[in-house]
Amino acid sequence: PNVYAAPGTEGALMSYEKRYDNYIGGRWVPPVKGQYFADQSPVDGKTFTEVARGTAEDIELALDAAHAAAPAWGRTSVAQRALVLHRIADRMEENLERLAVAETWENGKPVRETLAADLPLAIDHFRYFAGALRAQQGGISQLDEDTVAYHFHEPLGVVGQIIPWNFPILMATWKLAPALAAGNAVVLKPAEQTPASILYLMSLIGDLLPDGVVNVVNGFGLEAGKPLASNPRIAKIAFTGETTTGRLIMQYATQNIIPVTLELGGKSPNIFFPDVMDADDSYLDKALEGFTMFALNQGEVCTCPSRALIHESIYDEFMARALPRVKAIKRGHPLDPTTMVGAQASSDQFEKIRSYLDIGRQEGAEVLIGGGVDSVEGLDGGYYIQPTVFKGENSMRVFQEEIFGPVLSVTTFKDFDEAIAIANDSLYGLGAGVWSRSADTMYRAGRAIQAGRVWTNTYHQYPAHAAFGGYKQSGIGRENHLMMLSHYQQTKNLLVSY
Ligand code: NAD
Repeated sequence: PNVYAAPGTEGALMSYEKRYDNYIGGRWVPPVKGQYFADQSPVDGKTFTEVARGTAEDIELALDAAHAAAPAWGRTSVAQRALVLHRIADRMEENLERLAVAETWENGKPVRETLAADLPLAIDHFRYFAGALRAQQGGISQLDEDTVAYHFHEPLGVVGQIIPWNFPILMATWKLAPALAAGNAVVLKPAEQTPASILYLMSLIGDLLPDGVVNVVNGFGLEAGKPLASNPRIAKIAFTGETTTGRLIMQYATQNIIPVTLELGGKSPNIFFPDVMDADDSYLDKALEGFTMFALNQGEVCTCPSRALIHESIYDEFMARALPRVKAIKRGHPLDPTTMVGAQASSDQFEKIRSYLDIGRQEGAEVLIGGGVDSVEGLDGGYYIQPTVFKGENSMRVFQEEIFGPVLSVTTFKDFDEAIAIANDSLYGLGAGVWSRSADTMYRAGRAIQAGRVWTNTYHQYPAHAAFGGYKQSGIGRENHLMMLSHYQQTKNLLVSY
């Protein structure tokens, strides 16, 4: 088998089904209204499968199944649940290449990333939460000689989860692993742009879970997402997506007084302090690599370092080295193992990014490199954009609005305080990068930047054991890390007088 052959073609490692139903109660269940929608690959713009178009009726069926499954799953021992998560991780690992190709074909991201990053990370999240669960501790406090307060972790019950299209399997994993570890049953709604890779995943791992513990209902935001997020039968809604959608999700949740986890948009600053240029070559090399990170995953990353802040004293010298690095980013067929930047995930996203290329020019930003669409031989219908660097001011729309494409906006700063002021002049506060050899600068900048994750002398690492989430309008709550298990649990206090 050829890992790099398109799914379903001669010699391909995996193929999608012609049609996918919803996954409910451990079975493939046709949508109640009988409708399906086309799922297109952004690699070539062609429909490769069709997927159930779920509605409120399908959400109710999934909630029935989840409620039937939740009590028994919640009572399984910690060791049993951990074992199931390990088995899921093992099964995914056995199918690593298939899953990587499935994800690439559906999302357009390079197979080099799905093979080396997305899938291994997703697998590790299951393993991490299997271990984290066993390491979680409760608490007993003795209040007086005869009185004791016990604290128990209880599952929430049935939780709803809604995810975006930029890392379909990884985003599903970030949500599923802690929720399942904590003993909940789940109804998950994938993004309508990328349901198939998650359905393919369910076809591989579904048998490892008791029926009804994970249910996947496909469909569009208002038709399937809203009936889930606003449903009185869920005990929590976890959402990753745009800030505008996050506001709606929060409104729905207020009706039922349930907790929300919101992982929303970003416009992350990547700050290069002057001592970057004084450092040795290997450090400078790393910093230049950090500069190019805006193009990773075609810029479709919530923490995309989409604003670069460069000290004015090093600007010319730094950019003289940085722009050739951007030029050298290898674009091409997402299934080519050497490709570093592939296709944007959908035609809508492609058009949105194109419009920002115009907006940037209209508001006077200078195009330093790129600035247009791209083409890949033999893939005329695909959605390709050149990695683009604008130079401008932080007040411009291309500095303030999330483009979610391989588009970087660069500006300069005079001193530390101005760097922090520019970095924090944003509605968002998700990620940030700080590049300096000075421990003092790293620490002070790291603490002063209003963002949930500040990388220093690195970028785009997402280990399961580091808490992730946003300040300001980038979200509420955190994901990953042992601490986050409690976001999927109730705390029961039993206060006993003996
Ligand atoms: P989106 O908000 O358009 O859609 C996300 C999901 O919400 C989809 O499944 C969609 O069907 C559903 N949805 C849409 N309207 C809904 C409604 N009214 N009720 C319920 N569900 C609804 O976001 P997107 O375009 O798919 O994803 C890109 C966004 O996700 C970017 O803003 C990005 O920054 C953000 N993101 C954030 C993180 C993070 O961890 N903070 C990670 C990845 C992506």
